[in-house]
Amino acid sequence: MTRPIRHLPVLQNWDCHQCGNCCTDYWVPVTPEERRRIEAQGWSQLPEFQGIPLFVPYGPFWRRKWRVNQREGDRCIFLDEHGLCRIHAKFGPEAKPFACRLYPYVLVPVGDHYRVSLRFACPSATANKGRPLTAQRDELKEYAQGFERWHREMNPQAHAGSVDQLLPLGQGDWLDWDEIVLFSDEFVRILRSREWPLVRRWLQILYVARTCWEARFDKVRGSRLREFLQLLADAARLELSERPMPVIRPSWVGRILFRNFLAISLRKDQGVRRGDASRNRLRLMAAMWRMLRGRGKLPPLQKGLPEVTFADMEKPLPELPAAAWELLERYYLVKMQSLQFFGPAFMNYPFLIGLEMLALTLPMILWLTRGYLDRGGAAAVEKAVQVIDENFGYSPFLESSRQRLALRILAMRQETERLILWYARS
Ligand code: SF4
Repeated sequence: MTRPIRHLPVLQNWDCHQCGNCCTDYWVPVTPEERRRIEAQGWSQLPEFQGIPLFVPYGPFWRRKWRVNQREGDRCIFLDEHGLCRIHAKFGPEAKPFACRLYPYVLVPVGDHYRVSLRFACPSATANKGRPLTAQRDELKEYAQGFERWHREMNPQAHAGSVDQLLPLGQGDWLDWDEIVLFSDEFVRILRSREWPLVRRWLQILYVARTCWEARFDKVRGSRLREFLQLLADAARLELSERPMPVIRPSWVGRILFRNFLAISLRKDQGVRRGDASRNRLRLMAAMWRMLRGRGKLPPLQKGLPEVTFADMEKPLPELPAAAWELLERYYLVKMQSLQFFGPAFMNYPFLIGLEMLALTLPMILWLTRGYLDRGGAAAVEKAVQVIDENFGYSPFLESSRQRLALRILAMRQETERLILWYARS
């Protein structure tokens, strides 16, 4: 039976406004059934499809998969001259590949139900345009049913739809979903407490997380765990709400690891915004090296990055308008409530490691905002969120244990806090 959808983000709206970005930014994987069905729609008879296969294989030959082909400039083969989907126009939305229908929703399996997140790379999601998500429950229910079928067909060897019932918290304890949710509920409460700026709220969350790294939870379960987390959150408020926070430049370790994650987040190897660096292995290596060194101009890891130097990105930030902070608050509430930052939705990261990655997106977004300020503060943050969220949980380079170790080092040295304060300074 399909898991029900629960906990839809109440602050978030979305509807597709047909900007066409997702049709030119990604490869669209298809199942064998989708391939057969779309081939049967008769596209190959039309003059504009002569001599071009509709689908192309990808991946190693022993795990061969198929995706929709693209035309010159990495545009989906089914896009028409107005940037609209031909399959949608001729046969309706149900006829499209499931991956296109689901985007930008992310269905996050949380024990016995799904939570819903969004990919903020979609401009309608960042701009909060469209109907409230709470009004889209029926569509989401249908997507949940389609998702399980699609997942089974894409990964026939996997135990389709099965989700581990125990999850790693950090470096030793394994908790069940109800217990993990107690942590995220407490962090959602902190994120909602508007009496402090968002930066301070994130520092409070990290204060709680730091203590949890050290704690042992084998005897603190259920209601005791809830009380323990509330006590920690109260202590974080007392410690961090009023006292001035010194802004100290992150150490060289923090700066290098930060730029390593920036490189992963900015690197784009597919679609029309594919970086020039990715077209040639040597150029790509040079670009990654320049990222790590942090000197000179930003390397061309994707098209549309600001043409500025690393030194420009270290300058203090001008005061950002309230709308920019509201977008950031909405972004983090959606990610935190949906749990799209660890576990099955995020390469099976342990909870606290995934939380560190989520926290690190704040200095990354504020760093990138500096490059887009000529658009105005709110638009600059909007663009930075779109770019940084694009690879959040989707870059294959986040899969390695090296990146988890890097996040652990940032946590242990409290570099993430320094990075947040450093890049939020005005
Ligand atoms: S990026 Fe978003 S708004 Fe644009 S076409 Fe895709 S789903 Fe629609």
